[in-house]
Amino acid sequence: MTDLKIQGAVLTPADAGFKAAVLKTLFNQRAIDRLPDMMATPETLDDIKSIVRYARAVGKKVSVCSGGHSWSANHVRNGSILINMARFNQFQVDREKMTAWAGPAAGGSVLLSALMKQNLFFPAGHCKGVCIGGYLLQGGFAWNGRKLGMACESVIGYDIVTADGELVHADEKENSDLFWAAKGAGGGFFGIVVRFYLRVYPKPKYAGMAMHVFDIKHLEDVFSWAYEVGPSIPDSVEFQMLTSKKTLLFCGPGIEAAAPVFADTKDELYEATEFLRNSPIRKKAFFKMPFFQPGIDMMYRFAMTHYPYDHCWGVDNMWTHAPVSELIPYLKQIADTLPPSPAHILWLNWQPPVRKTDMAFSVEDKIYIALYGAWKSQADTERYGNWATGWMRQMEHLATGIQLADENLHNRPARFLSESNMTRMDEVRAGRDAAGLFNEWHSRG
Ligand SMILES: Cc1cc2nc3c(=O)[nH]c(=O)nc-3n(C[C@H](O)[C@H](O)[C@H](O)COP(=O)(O)OP(=O)(O)OC[C@H]3O[C@@H](n4cnc5c(N)ncnc54)[C@H](O)[C@@H]3O)c2cc1C
Repeated sequence: MTDLKIQGAVLTPADAGFKAAVLKTLFNQRAIDRLPDMMATPETLDDIKSIVRYARAVGKKVSVCSGGHSWSANHVRNGSILINMARFNQFQVDREKMTAWAGPAAGGSVLLSALMKQNLFFPAGHCKGVCIGGYLLQGGFAWNGRKLGMACESVIGYDIVTADGELVHADEKENSDLFWAAKGAGGGFFGIVVRFYLRVYPKPKYAGMAMHVFDIKHLEDVFSWAYEVGPSIPDSVEFQMLTSKKTLLFCGPGIEAAAPVFADTKDELYEATEFLRNSPIRKKAFFKMPFFQPGIDMMYRFAMTHYPYDHCWGVDNMWTHAPVSELIPYLKQIADTLPPSPAHILWLNWQPPVRKTDMAFSVEDKIYIALYGAWKSQADTERYGNWATGWMRQMEHLATGIQLADENLHNRPARFLSESNMTRMDEVRAGRDAAGLFNEWHSRG
């Protein structure tokens, strides 16, 4: 399997650094028992086409990696050829047309920081390192995402190498089946996106956050308030609550009720933060930070305190609209069993609108709950590895589905597309990748 000739690097298990090079693609440091048969890092489009044709010729499946931030290490599959898109990280902005193009390995934070310097904006994700490849394919929960929609709704075109090894452009008119599927297929997409064409927006005038922090003893009050006030919170606010054993990095167990706000006018900003000023449990907060604008880089740094590098992660999630009285008993037990920080519980007030975009992405609900188990030593995997999935299993009767962003499908299959969209996805796949060259989601084996 070494007769693949491309400009980029090709590594196989016969090469000394093979395993280390594959593992280096991963954000999640948790040990895995899977390895591909080859990793190719293309430098050119022709390289990608050659790899696809080669994989077909030798009867191997293909998986793709852009930024490697899939919690489940989705791209590391046995018996497959891994295409590492790391070299495709360029982007270019067209200010006049309010568009940009970007390679899949462009970091969302890098793109957003560059845009903001030009008074522009794109709904990128909340953490450094996450690349737009995997992020935009699964949907994309973004800064200002409640107002601008799923990030994939701001993608106006894709350049894709198909299972035939051909480069095609997909947009609303051309190859519209691929255009539809790329907006939500996530780690089950059947093509290699080599370039995304993006709509960009004017930078919101106010971009910052406010926060109230509570001791864990107020858990019931805090979640009841969040549930109650959630539907009336304006879409300029991504209200989220982070429960951990170390609030603000140095205090004890508690809940950070954080409100990133992106507003275009002073009135909008005032309205956005009203729910915190009028909060009936305001007095219970031991720390109150009024709205301030630290700049997008600081906002990324703040977010990264919850998702540090060099950790093992066990993550799982659910969408729900269950009554808060049914959620709280579980939240209490989950908080009681939380692994040490940076492990945390995320409660996101989502309250989705009726979406007009015709796209594969189709499962969301009022509230998003995600559990992020984190630990440093592989020796602790047995202790903490199943914390997130174990609780999500117990809460399945309250869930309406999951986000692919935080999927753990190899451990717990769950619903992430509507039934009709899954049927349509399978039809598009059958037309585009009849031979099954691309790996599907883990839950499909
Ligand atoms: C610390 C952290 C923070 C996160 N924050 C957010 C957030 O704020 N919002 C959010 O929505 N998500 C977030 N995520 C989830 C993240 O968006 C997904 O894991 C996403 O898939 C990561 O993209 P990637 O390119 O870095 O990862 P990868 O692991 O490279 O990609 C994930 C999968 O997408 C597919 N894929 C990737 N690139 C291509 C391509 N070019 N062509 C075809 N298929 C491809 C592959 O199947 C791959 O296995 C976060 C994840 C982490 C670890």
